[in-house]
Amino acid sequence: MAHTTSKPAAGKVYLVGAGPGDPELITIKAARALGTADVVLVDDLVDRRVLEHARANARIVAVGKRGGCKSTSQAFIEKLMIRLARRGNIVARLKGGDPFMFGRGGEECEALAAAGVAVEIISGITAGMAVPAMLGIPVTHRTVARGVTFLTGHTHDGSGPDWTALRASGTTLVIYMGVKHMATLVCGMLDAGFRADTPACAIQNGTLETQAEVVTTLSALPQAATDARLGSPAILVIGEVVRLAQVTTATDTISAQRAA
Ligand code: SAH
Repeated sequence: MAHTTSKPAAGKVYLVGAGPGDPELITIKAARALGTADVVLVDDLVDRRVLEHARANARIVAVGKRGGCKSTSQAFIEKLMIRLARRGNIVARLKGGDPFMFGRGGEECEALAAAGVAVEIISGITAGMAVPAMLGIPVTHRTVARGVTFLTGHTHDGSGPDWTALRASGTTLVIYMGVKHMATLVCGMLDAGFRADTPACAIQNGTLETQAEVVTTLSALPQAATDARLGSPAILVIGEVVRLAQVTTATDTISAQRAA
């Protein structure tokens, strides 16, 4: 089939993962999609340096939800994407990490599909894997953790997860959006029988120059995070794999070469 580079009559939306923070951790496919976009809708958590892949004349719209009314804003973003695509625009909806990992990408896909708008998903590297890796923590390990559970510390109805089942699973727990309710989360785990000395860490701004972390035990995590003034965005990792953390200053050779 012949390929065409001309603008289609009906537009299209790319739901693009921008990766965990470091602008170099974006995929080649994401960068290429950005280069085709007429309009880029960019989330708060996305490092603005990735916009260098966008066309010089692309319209850049910040659609951060921090501090705003979330539901109104989400509906607004969906309507905006539909309107832009219907007018024939190529729209890149750029989200932190992976669009389908706690990114509301599923909801946006449903809304776009219901409106008859073509959508393509471009996966990104999720923070829950890349951020622990910055400390040398593998989220699974053949002899230490047979699996990993990704969960959110912030649910729309305020309910907590089944900690007893999670403890029994023997998997590493990687918690997104867990800073605000960290003390409650840790209490829930301890009440469900997690050992107080289970290795645990919190990492803020992972993969970025501003990365900061605490590596400690489960029971000590909330106080340690407070003392270190860790805030959002941060990933919590709970489980034996955290013992493998190397909190030495790792030399990032490739980024150093870029800066030189
Ligand atoms: N779709 C994103 C997650 C969105 S939810 C992804 O796949 O990574 C937002 C949460 O992701 C934050 O509250 C935080 O828990 C986590 N997060 C995103 N970027 C991060 C980073 N650079 N360092 C630490 N945590 C991060």
